[in-house]
Amino acid sequence: MWVGTIMQSTSYKLGRFFLCGLKHDSELARSVVKFAREKRVKMAFFTVVGAVKQARLAYYDQVEHEYQKIELDRPLEIANCFGNLSLKNGKPFAHVHAVLADKAGKTYAGHLIRATVFAAELHLQELLGKKLEREYDQTTGLALWEFGEL
Ligand code: ZN
Repeated sequence: MWVGTIMQSTSYKLGRFFLCGLKHDSELARSVVKFAREKRVKMAFFTVVGAVKQARLAYYDQVEHEYQKIELDRPLEIANCFGNLSLKNGKPFAHVHAVLADKAGKTYAGHLIRATVFAAELHLQELLGKKLEREYDQTTGLALWEFGEL
């Protein structure tokens, strides 16, 4: 079903651009949030390249409204990893998706719940403007961006 309503959005100015090496054995998303907190970054988008020792991805079941976990207990390359940073319950929250590859080049992809960093490089673009909060959305069961009154 297609719905013909105007999508909500807001515009931001580009702030600082950071390059950061994530620590061995750290948890990927948590490290990104920690780095953002230290630098007082509220909103951002980022990419990560490198490798992880293990990961837990997830697939969101759109009927059941729950995440189905995909456990990957082995070393994997981060073939692609993209995320954004906004606020959830007033705190910085990273929404991260990743494509991870095993030694045969086989890939696993999805919503990244957690990953243990082997070595990883973070490229983070700060966004300056209105604070962006996530709020529970009844239709999808997800915490989506709430743009408020424009
Ligand atoms: Zn997701």
